[in-house]
Amino acid sequence: MRLRIHDTRGDIRSTIGTWATLLDESGDKIGYVGTIQDITEREALEARLSHQATHDALTGLPNRVILGEHLTKTLASARRSGDLIGVLFCDLDRFKVVNDSLGHDCGDRLLVSVADRLRSCVRVGDLLGRFGGDEFVIVTSGHSEGASIAAVAERIRAAFDEPFEIGAGRPMRCTASLGVAHSNPGATPESLLRDADVAMYRAKEQCRGGVAQFDERLRARALERLALERDLPHALANDELVLLYQPIVDAVSQQVRSVEALVRWDHPTRGRLVPEMFISVAEETGAILELGDWVLRRACLDLCDITDLKVNVNLSAMQLHDHLLVDRVTKILASTGFPPERLVLEITESVLVADIEATIATLAKLKALGIAIAVDDFGTGYSSLNYLSRLPVDSLKIDRSFVQGLGLPSGNDEIVRAVLVLAHALGLETTAEGVETVAQLETLQSLRCDLAQGFLVNHPLDHAALRELTIIWAAQI
Ligand code: C2E
Ligand code: MG
Ligand code: MG
Repeated sequence: MRLRIHDTRGDIRSTIGTWATLLDESGDKIGYVGTIQDITEREALEARLSHQATHDALTGLPNRVILGEHLTKTLASARRSGDLIGVLFCDLDRFKVVNDSLGHDCGDRLLVSVADRLRSCVRVGDLLGRFGGDEFVIVTSGHSEGASIAAVAERIRAAFDEPFEIGAGRPMRCTASLGVAHSNPGATPESLLRDADVAMYRAKEQCRGGVAQFDERLRARALERLALERDLPHALANDELVLLYQPIVDAVSQQVRSVEALVRWDHPTRGRLVPEMFISVAEETGAILELGDWVLRRACLDLCDITDLKVNVNLSAMQLHDHLLVDRVTKILASTGFPPERLVLEITESVLVADIEATIATLAKLKALGIAIAVDDFGTGYSSLNYLSRLPVDSLKIDRSFVQGLGLPSGNDEIVRAVLVLAHALGLETTAEGVETVAQLETLQSLRCDLAQGFLVNHPLDHAALRELTIIWAAQI
């Protein structure tokens, strides 16, 4: 029998009592004999262990186990009541960068801080759990329409507007991408979590810090991605990749100075695919290293006999962070005989500033080989001026989004002007990307931009077309 009794200090103790009746020789009761065992500590330990098995040690939030149980129960009762439930998958943006650059302690503090913030915006009855890593899940129930689930999602998103205090000296900005799935007649806990996860990926693709709603098209896209993931190794083995070359010209004289190598995939059943469709897949599966080697080797071979033309080759994040990058590049240059002075490696701004010290070291080694470095899509990342002046780079490519607004009332002429002044002050050459109109080109010339690239000048060309054009260019000089 379980008993709760007061001890001499007045504290309540949990006990288990066992009793036996004492009988005399003739079988009459003469009393009782019993023991009372204090199980207070054991109970506390049991509670702790069961909490540990169902809660995340860092944030104290329920883990996957509880989330799954809660979702099963809520789904069953929603089926009876006809209510809608929403599953929100929330994944922090660039958390790996925080962990890698500021250390795991800071990463942990950020997670705790995010968990506290999220706790304060979930409604009573809704469940917030940590799904793993930097992923949080919110199960929200009792909705009569999708709009009120969207409102919950917006509240969660807005929770990231204010910076987080993580005790690292200054508050830290952190955004999250949110995927939202609603219950439907055939929904299971697994299908809802999976749909919310797929929607979260969509949110990341569209723009970080955003919210995306699951729909059937997204499922089709997710399946398509899986198929591409499966086919990608064949693309490399079966020679299905193709390089196009887009000329980069002097903004004033229009003389061609370089070409940017842009990869395409001639898929056997789906036709020609643009990099947006497969580069991120290649990054996720790690195939990007092999793909990147292929692109660099092909570009060097194709450009070897077109004298005086430089070639710009894009490097992805994973390639830059690969500790064998310098070796790989050295080997390809040696085996193709391509002069390093004619190679420009383009690296996206946001990738460059992710792990600044390691990046500086890698870039310095590449530059020592004679290679030039360009910051691609400049203006879309978050590099501080301080970082920019420390990076051993040679040129900046102003992102297309700034160039397209040039001369328009809503445009950013002043930003482009400021970037050009800044770049020149730092001794960097400038290229405008995505120049499509004469007016844009003229504005760029008046702002003293050095080089221009875009459909106005030339679309990306295949190798044969590039060769023909170079013959014409040579004749014009
Ligand atoms: P990016 O490096 O910024 O390349 C420029 C993109 O802008 C190219 O798209 C090009 O076709 C497009 N473009 C050029 N001029 C214009 C214009 O006037 N208007 C418009 N609207 N677009 C223009 P593309 O070829 O689809 O490549 C997209 C991105 O994929 C590239 O952006 C680059 O980040 C990546 N990429 C391409 N090839 C490779 C590669 O070999 N390796 C890696 N890691 N990434 C690559
Ligand atoms: Mg580029
Ligand atoms: Mg670019």
